[in-house]
Amino acid sequence: MSSNSVAYVYRPVTIDAIVEVFEVARQCGKTVALKGAGNSYGDAFQNAENIVIDLSRMKRILEFDPRNGIVKCEPGVTIQELWHYAIGDGWWPPVVSGTSYITLGGALAANIHGKNNLHEGTIGEHVLSFDLLTPNGEVIQVDRDSEPELFFAVIGSFGLLGVIASITLQLKRIHSGYLDVQAISVPNFDAAFEAFQSKAEQHDYIVAWIDAFASGPRCGRGLIHIADYLKEGDDAHPEESLRVDAQKLPDTVAGWIARSRMWKLMRPWVRPTGMRIVNWAKYTAGKREHGKRYRQSLAAFNFLLDSAPNWKWSYRPGGLVQYQPFIPMDRARDAFDRIITLSQDRGFVPFLTVMKRHRPDSFLLSHAVDGFSLALDYKVTKKNRESFRELIRALDEIVFEAGGKFYFAKDSTLQRGAAKLFLDEASISSFMAIKQRIDPEMILQSDLSRRIFGEFVPVSNALETTDESQIL
Ligand SMILES: Cc1cc2nc3c(=O)[nH]c(=O)nc-3n(C[C@H](O)[C@H](O)[C@H](O)COP(=O)(O)OP(=O)(O)OC[C@H]3O[C@@H](n4cnc5c(N)ncnc54)[C@H](O)[C@@H]3O)c2cc1C
Repeated sequence: MSSNSVAYVYRPVTIDAIVEVFEVARQCGKTVALKGAGNSYGDAFQNAENIVIDLSRMKRILEFDPRNGIVKCEPGVTIQELWHYAIGDGWWPPVVSGTSYITLGGALAANIHGKNNLHEGTIGEHVLSFDLLTPNGEVIQVDRDSEPELFFAVIGSFGLLGVIASITLQLKRIHSGYLDVQAISVPNFDAAFEAFQSKAEQHDYIVAWIDAFASGPRCGRGLIHIADYLKEGDDAHPEESLRVDAQKLPDTVAGWIARSRMWKLMRPWVRPTGMRIVNWAKYTAGKREHGKRYRQSLAAFNFLLDSAPNWKWSYRPGGLVQYQPFIPMDRARDAFDRIITLSQDRGFVPFLTVMKRHRPDSFLLSHAVDGFSLALDYKVTKKNRESFRELIRALDEIVFEAGGKFYFAKDSTLQRGAAKLFLDEASISSFMAIKQRIDPEMILQSDLSRRIFGEFVPVSNALETTDESQIL
């Protein structure tokens, strides 16, 4: 959303066609990046002046067993297509992101988390197996038992180890299309952390919206939502709530504004004064919502941002940079306060701020911590880009000092070498060793990989180079 580049884009629909593209890349001396639906906030699927394989046309659901909820899909199937397909039989994707437009290939490559991260972990924890197509055309069937090293390395490796060509996933059994939701208004970070402390363990989902314009003792004020799946029998008419129609977001907002036009209406508000008013109004309305319990469809609860399609366009002509640090439990309160206060002091108040609770996982390039994340949306323009960069460097220091981590799906600002500060050296070395084994020509690269790791140099050339990426 904040970066762009020009590349040669192929949109294959078969494995053979992907293999052909790798061959073309080899002949032309180009590298290849993989793309799902292009929903990453940064440059994870971009590959300037090189080749991009767009996998979004590989979207067949290959197998589904409604008795046990096991589904096998091609990588271009989106989360939305998957839940549309399975909900009628009482199944739901166990982990979803804040938008349903992402592909399953992209979801695995980033190892996405949802608002239920504390209980369900990341999507990778629900994957039974996947087929990995390596750049030399070999297809490896990967599961936890037969290929544990590849299983934990490929999930979360952002398309740098091979093409996830099919995915077998265990879906979650649901007994209703609704969640039981409760709102909790919090006047500051102390109250927000206290609420997470007392509620997160007991409830399936928890997420907080934070008003980043509030300062001093009100810093961290906002609205928390907790939500739970309904148990069998709680919904008198599950056959109705489990219909796709019952889940769908309405086509109009307030009965007359077409959702597709929402971003145009939002545009005049997407500036500091407008967003200060919007945040204040949301907080004030949230105070009235405090303590209320209600039922909300799974889609409406999980995919709030989808109700305003193309909302990112309201940040034009500059762009939106999302900054999402993950901070361990005992340091998060202080770090979040400092991040918001410093942003305010430098004149960059995030327009949308969301806080989540996380748990660690066993994937090689994991972004997870036993703690919290804060996702901050900043508006950046041509004029303020330089001072924004300075702010980001100062925020990075706060995050690293607190032992925090970053998530490549959301990142567009980390600099080369930064990975060493939050991924341990052993993990990076293991990742490089696997890459050298299955992609020795270093065909799979992206703007993200070059920004973070530097150019990957083929094993045969590595002896002749002093490139830093080889000695990470
Ligand atoms: C509004 C919004 C809300 C979001 N909310 C969340 C959230 O709550 N939690 C969360 O974790 N993330 C969230 N994200 C981030 C998003 O889930 C990830 O960036 C996801 O990877 C995007 O999937 P995609 O299909 O668009 O993939 P792309 O963005 O196109 O690609 C993402 C990565 O996957 C790789 N890739 C794609 N397909 C394959 C494949 N078949 N094989 C191997 N590698 C592949 C690409 O090379 C790239 O590195 C959100 C993004 C948006 C825009």
